[in-house]
Amino acid sequence: PFNLNGEIAYVSMSMGIALYPHNGFHISSLIKNADIAMYKSKDTGKNKFTMFCHSMEEELSRNSLILEVLRHAIVNKEIYVKYQPQYNISSKKINGFLALMRINNSKLGNISPAEFIPIAEESGLITDLGEWILREACNFNRSLLDQGYTPYIVSVNISTVQMNHPGFVDMVDNILKETKLPPRYLELEITESTLVSSLFNATVLLSNLQDLGVRVSLDDFGTGYSSLNYLTTIPINTLKMDKSFIDNISKNDKDACIADAIIQLAHSIDVDVIAEGVEHEEQLIVLKQKKCDIVQGYIFSKPLLPSALMNLLVNEGQ
Ligand code: C2E
Ligand code: MG
Repeated sequence: PFNLNGEIAYVSMSMGIALYPHNGFHISSLIKNADIAMYKSKDTGKNKFTMFCHSMEEELSRNSLILEVLRHAIVNKEIYVKYQPQYNISSKKINGFLALMRINNSKLGNISPAEFIPIAEESGLITDLGEWILREACNFNRSLLDQGYTPYIVSVNISTVQMNHPGFVDMVDNILKETKLPPRYLELEITESTLVSSLFNATVLLSNLQDLGVRVSLDDFGTGYSSLNYLTTIPINTLKMDKSFIDNISKNDKDACIADAIIQLAHSIDVDVIAEGVEHEEQLIVLKQKKCDIVQGYIFSKPLLPSALMNLLVNEGQ
């Protein structure tokens, strides 16, 4: 530690190593590859060293290809939405659906969100892509209302990068006005880590969103912070219990007890609970016992194209 006028500063070091001749014959290629390995050290926890290997170079060039695809995805119409229905656990009726971004490129094919979302976030492109999907989802939900469907809540994932972007609340407000979707039928999904560690002023931002009349759900609950105290201080409507946690709910008594406690606490402060990634009947039975409100998972439906979702909604209404 360095003492800088009474402030203690800690310095750590991330190293990348490239070896001659395996990783390059020339100084320039050795330094370039050592640099790639150094960034790997930073990305995977910092304060360590990483040896270069050729797969890192491939990863880097795939990332640049994806970046190019993302840059033109809207203009090239390579971005589209799938909607995953969310079911009320007791009535087994659809309560709403989550909009999920999809990218299909002529050369790279379907790229998974797990791969492209981090690249979109790092490059800042998520701001435009996120605005696109929000508008698309609001338009779609509005068109369902216009066609006489029962009202549903559409949820949209919002990245930390978007939320920290100046004018975020105005952007949401403008889209609601433009699409004429009543705000109560829109839910913004933010992750717990966004809320706890990355937001400049989380409470104020969430209050501003709630003033617009939109709903807010807290995603990935149960994976990291599980900060129960936050639940009582921030304005949220829904809490989403993470899949990794739901996975063992029927096999592990401790997980079932924690789910029980989370659901009870959420209900006591008027917050609904959604279980994510429910795949098996046994999980559903436990969740029903624990009085979980809503279920999203392959057990009921995978994410669907808008037309397939509409068919499902029509059949459900009959
Ligand atoms: P998420 O918001 O937690 O979305 C749920 C993910 O779990 C989706 O993956 C969905 O297909 C998958 N899933 C749902 N039910 C099941 C199940 O029963 N079993 C399993 N194994 N998986 C299930 P997807 O579409 O690949 O999206 C992954 C993540 O990418 C999302 O997680 C979200 O964090 C992010 N993402 C997707 N679309 C957007 C977007 O428009 N904006 C932002 N910022 N992030 C997005
Ligand atoms: Mg999410």
